[in-house]
Amino acid sequence: MWLSFMVCSWSLEVATVILKNYRRAKRKKNVKRPYAKRLMAKLGNQAYKVIGDQLRIPIKPREYFYVKLHKRVMHFLSDTTLKLGSVTLTACRVVVVFSKIAKVTEFRGYVAIDVNEDNITAMNSNGKVRFFDLSKLKKVGCGYFERGKVLQRKYNKDRRVLKKVLSKISENYRNRVSTMLHQVSTAIVKGCRKEGYGLIHEDLRGLRRTINERAKQFNKVNVKVQRVSNHSKKLKRRLNNWWFREFLNQISYKCMWESVKTIESKHARGSSSICPICGSKLAEYPNGQVGCERCKLKENRHIVACVNLLRWELAVQA
Ligand SMILES: [Zn+2]
Repeated sequence: MWLSFMVCSWSLEVATVILKNYRRAKRKKNVKRPYAKRLMAKLGNQAYKVIGDQLRIPIKPREYFYVKLHKRVMHFLSDTTLKLGSVTLTACRVVVVFSKIAKVTEFRGYVAIDVNEDNITAMNSNGKVRFFDLSKLKKVGCGYFERGKVLQRKYNKDRRVLKKVLSKISENYRNRVSTMLHQVSTAIVKGCRKEGYGLIHEDLRGLRRTINERAKQFNKVNVKVQRVSNHSKKLKRRLNNWWFREFLNQISYKCMWESVKTIESKHARGSSSICPICGSKLAEYPNGQVGCERCKLKENRHIVACVNLLRWELAVQA
C-alpha cells in the first residue's frame, strides 16, 4: 500500500506534464488522448541516496531497497562537476540523470549536416566533407519488414504469440539502428567540438504530418465523401519508419553536453535542388548527381544540400 502510494506521488509529476502537453497540443490539432501504458516512477534528487555503488530508494519509513549501479554510472559519479538529478524507475531499468553547466565557446565556423535515408553527409565551412554510409540500415530495415510479413502469416491464428515475436524483432531492429546512429552522431559532435565548429541541420519536424495527410475525396462506388491518403502506402511506410528524429535527438543532446552551438535551419526546403551559385533549379542525373545548366556545375546532391544550408544560414546571420 505504502509503496503504491509513494510511487503514485512520484509519478504525479510525470502525469501532470503529460496532461499539460496534451492540453497544449489539443489547441492546435485533434490529438489522441494520452494514456500511461507502462509502470514507472520518477524520484526527485531528494528522494534517493547513493551509497557505495548502490542506489537506495525508500519504500517505507526507515525501510529501503537497493539497486546496484552500472560501472559507467559510477564513472559519472566520480566526476564532481556533475550534478545529480532525478531518477526514473521502469520495469526493467533505472535512469539516473546528470546535469552540467556547459559554456558555449567561440567557434570558427559551421558544420552542415544533410540527413538522408541511406547516408548522412557533413560538411564544414572550409569545404571538408565527411560521408557516413548508412545504406546497410536501409537494407536491414527491408529485411526486418519481410520477416515481419512472414511471421504475421505464420502466427495469424494466435495474436498473443504474434505480438511477442513481432515485438522481439522490432526491438532487435531498433537496437541495430540506434547503435549505428550513436556511432555517427558521436563522431560528428566530437569532430565539431575538437575543431571548434557549430552545427547546422535541417528542421525535419512536420515531415510525418505532411506524409500522413489525408484529403477528402468523393468515392463513386459507395457514393460517399471519404478521407483518402495523399501518398502511397509504400512511401508512407518508408518515411514513417525513417530514423531521422532519433538521429536529430541524439545530435541535439550530445551537442548540448559538449557545448556545441546548434542551429535548426527553418528554411531548408529544396536545399538539394537549387543551385548554390545562381539559385536556379537543378537538373537531376543518375548516381545522385545534380547539375546546373547555367553555370555548368555538376555535383553530388548531398554536398549541394550542405553548401546551401551553410550559405543560407550564414546569410540570415549576416
Ligand atoms: Zn547555377
